[in-house]
Amino acid sequence: MLSLHRLPGVPTAKQPLFPSTSTFTHPPRRPTCLFPQSKTLPKPPKFHKSPTALLQWNRKPQLSGETPRVVVVTSGKGGVGKTTTTANIGLSLARLDFSVVAIDADVGLRNLDLLLGLENRVNYTALEVLNGDCRLDQALVRDKRWSNFELLCISKPRSKLPLGFGGKALIWLVDALKSRTEGCPDFILIDCPAGIDAGFITAITPANEAILITTPDITALRDADRVTGLLECDGIRDIKMIVNRVRTDMIKGEDMMSVLDVQEMLGLPLLGAIPEDSEVIRSTNRGYPLVLNKPPTLAGLAFEQAAWRLVEQDTMQAVMVEEEPKRGFFSFFGG
Ligand code: ADP
Ligand code: MG
Repeated sequence: MLSLHRLPGVPTAKQPLFPSTSTFTHPPRRPTCLFPQSKTLPKPPKFHKSPTALLQWNRKPQLSGETPRVVVVTSGKGGVGKTTTTANIGLSLARLDFSVVAIDADVGLRNLDLLLGLENRVNYTALEVLNGDCRLDQALVRDKRWSNFELLCISKPRSKLPLGFGGKALIWLVDALKSRTEGCPDFILIDCPAGIDAGFITAITPANEAILITTPDITALRDADRVTGLLECDGIRDIKMIVNRVRTDMIKGEDMMSVLDVQEMLGLPLLGAIPEDSEVIRSTNRGYPLVLNKPPTLAGLAFEQAAWRLVEQDTMQAVMVEEEPKRGFFSFFGG
């Protein structure tokens, strides 16, 4: 069994670190890890996948829920992968033929445009739209590769938000996106700033669902737990979690919490688990999102699968892998 007791500051995986804000009941503890374990470990019980949980690449996922789905990508802690997730899930959704608008609500430190390689094409921002200096379609930057993906930046880099800019302004922008002549987008993704101050409140205001990003470390988990509470207070009940920067070698060495440990602590449904992958950093620096890479990378595939689940409002479970994977890493997700 993976022992968390050996990690400094981590009491036990059976008791959540922080009071849980959801009604999640903890499943019985078992030796669990998303990633391959050594052959010497006892065989886990057989895991039966539900048909809906199997990824069916030969069909388009069925969009569940009313459009536009306004999804905020948030975390509390900075640097855990919100912007990376917004870019990669956004482009995955566009590749699945859904229309997507990604809003960079990280005002002072915007960088979604950089990750997407669109920085030279941002001439106008949402602030200019709100001031009446330009039209909304002038501030929307269409991706050259996927024309059904558009980026909207709230402000210029290093600029401060004017007093009075808040959640209502973002609601106005979302309403304006809904009533465009081109039609309402299927997804509006909002890249949230770190922290829980005014920028965070503004970013979550128009959202009706959230993707909470966390890494498997206790500082990110504490922030994620706090943010979950705040989202629920704001009436956002549909919160799914992505565990990012997961390292198989560290989980095996019992130096990192497994994805299931994280899920048990936060009590949130799991949308995806993204491995630590140097390709993410390479693609960030090239301004070329990972999901567009050919051949696909492990992290890129994990983002694509998370996008698929988002469309269908599906979730996954972290399961123990039976011995060495024979059918590939991604065949071990269940419903
Ligand atoms: P945030 O928006 O939460 O501040 P970013 O998306 O900007 O975080 O990511 C912070 C850094 O972490 C970036 O340099 C990014 O390339 C890196 N990163 C994110 N996810 C991964 C991953 N799965 N593997 C490796 N590096 C990652
Ligand atoms: Mg960011």
